[in-house]
Amino acid sequence: MRAIGRDPLFIDHAAGAEIFDVDGNRYVDYVCSWGPLIAGHAEPSVVAAVVEAAARGTSYGAPTEGEVLLAEEVARRMPGAELMRMTSSGTEAAMTALRLARAYTGREVVIKFAGAYHGHSDGLLAQAGSGLATQAIPASPGVPAAAAAATVVVPWNDRDALIAASGRDDLAAIIAEPCPANMGLVSAATGFLELLRERADAVGALLIFDEVISGFRVDRGGAGTRAGVPADLLVLGKILGGGLPAAALAGGRELMELLAPVGDVYQAGTLSGNPLAVAAGLATLALLDEGAYIRLAKTTDALAQGLRAAARDLPVSVVSTTGLLTVFFAASAPRDLREAQACDIAAYGHFCRELLARGVYAPPSQFEAWFPSLAHSAEHVEQTLDAARAAFAAVGEAS
Ligand SMILES: *Cc1c(COP(=O)(O)O)cnc(C)c1O
Repeated sequence: MRAIGRDPLFIDHAAGAEIFDVDGNRYVDYVCSWGPLIAGHAEPSVVAAVVEAAARGTSYGAPTEGEVLLAEEVARRMPGAELMRMTSSGTEAAMTALRLARAYTGREVVIKFAGAYHGHSDGLLAQAGSGLATQAIPASPGVPAAAAAATVVVPWNDRDALIAASGRDDLAAIIAEPCPANMGLVSAATGFLELLRERADAVGALLIFDEVISGFRVDRGGAGTRAGVPADLLVLGKILGGGLPAAALAGGRELMELLAPVGDVYQAGTLSGNPLAVAAGLATLALLDEGAYIRLAKTTDALAQGLRAAARDLPVSVVSTTGLLTVFFAASAPRDLREAQACDIAAYGHFCRELLARGVYAPPSQFEAWFPSLAHSAEHVEQTLDAARAAFAAVGEAS
C-alpha cells in the first residue's frame, strides 16, 4: 500500500468475492489472499471441511488419510507427481526442492529468473519479484555472500542468456515459474519452457517448476502440464491449502525418496500436512472440475477485455490467462522484469487508488497479479469495469 501512497486496509471479514474493512467499506477483492482463494472467501464447503476437521483435532504430528487423498488428487492432475512431501509454506517447499536437487546432482549452482519469486529463503532472494520488486529491493541484506553466489540470475525469456548461463558442469537446477506472476503476469515466449527442459537435460541439471501460483489455477494440472513440458520437481502451495497454510514439493519416486526418512536429505515441519489445511485443500480441489476452469476463464476474459476497452487510448496492456491478470501501464506487454519495471508504476498506483475509492481492491502493486475467483460474478465484473472506466479517466486527466 505504501507503493501506491495509501494506508493498508485492515480487514474485518470477507465472503465470496467481497471483502470488508474495519471501517465498514466493501470491496470487490482481486487480491484474494494473493492466490489461494480460487473459490472465494469463506466458501461454504471449505469452511465446513475445516470446521469438521478442527473438531477431530487440529494437529497430531502423525500422518492422516487426508494427506494421502490430497497427494492422490495432485498426482491425478500432475503426471510427474509420483510422491509428495507437504510443508506449511511455499518458501519451505522451494527451499527443500533446491536442497534435494543439490543432493541428487552433487552440484551447487542454481539458475533463477529475474522477477521470479520463490519465497524468502536466502539463496532465492536475488532480483526476486513480488514484494521485493514492489519495494525495489534487488537483494535482501542479511543474505550471506556464499548463498547469493550459488544463484545465477537470468532475464526471463532471454534464450541467449539462458544458454550462456547454463553451459556449466556445476549446475544443480533451473528453477522457474512456468507462468510468471510475481513481476505482474509475464508470458513465456514460444518455446521458452521447452528450452528450460532442454538446457537442464543437456547439462544433467534438474528442472524445478514453481507452480505455487499457477498450479490448479491456470489449468487443472498447472502451467507445466498445460504446456506439455514436464519438470523434475514441482513446488506447490497457495490453492493446495485452500486458504490455510499448506504447500508441497512433488516429483518422481527416485528423486523424492532421497528425502528423510527414506533417504538422508533432511526436511521436517511440526505442522506440515496439518489436517485443517489438508481438509481446506481437498475441499477446494473438489470444486475445481472442468466446468470450474471454463467459468474462471470466462470471468478472466470478460475482465481483461473490459479493462482493455475501459483504458481507451491510454498506453495500457492487459495480460491475462485463466485466473490471472495484470494491468501494465505500457503500450506493449512486458517480456521480462526490466520491461515490467519500465512501465508507468506511478500511473498504476493512481489507477489503484481510484479503484479502491470505488470499491475495487486490485493488488496495490503492478508486480502482483490480480486473482479473479470462481466467486466473482458477472455483476462483480460489471462493477469492476464501471470503476475502471472512471479510474482510467482520472489517470488520463492527471497525465
Ligand atoms: C507465494 C509464492 C511462494 C512462496 O509461498 P509462501 O507460502 O508465501 O512461502 C513461492 N513461489 C511462488 C511462485 C509464489 O507465488
